[in-house]
Amino acid sequence: MSEPIFAAHSRCECQASLRADLDAQHAVLRGSAFLRGRRELAPAQAIHVDDVRFDIHWACPFCTRNILRSFTTAALQRVRPAA
Ligand SMILES: [Zn+2]
Repeated sequence: MSEPIFAAHSRCECQASLRADLDAQHAVLRGSAFLRGRRELAPAQAIHVDDVRFDIHWACPFCTRNILRSFTTAALQRVRPAA
């Protein structure tokens, strides 16, 4: 399994903090959501990962909303140097 290289952060309408750990190709390795002291797994996938601007879709485990957020490559938090 790939190691996460980037992290993308956003916020759900229910105020849960959404996070996606991404590999070097911006595919989602793991999604999670954090709200009021609880962290839950959140199914997530990235769309159009070959573009400079791409979308990440989360299914929020707290409110069941489907959240779609756009990200640019430059806006991603780098969590580990590329191997
Ligand atoms: Zn939510």
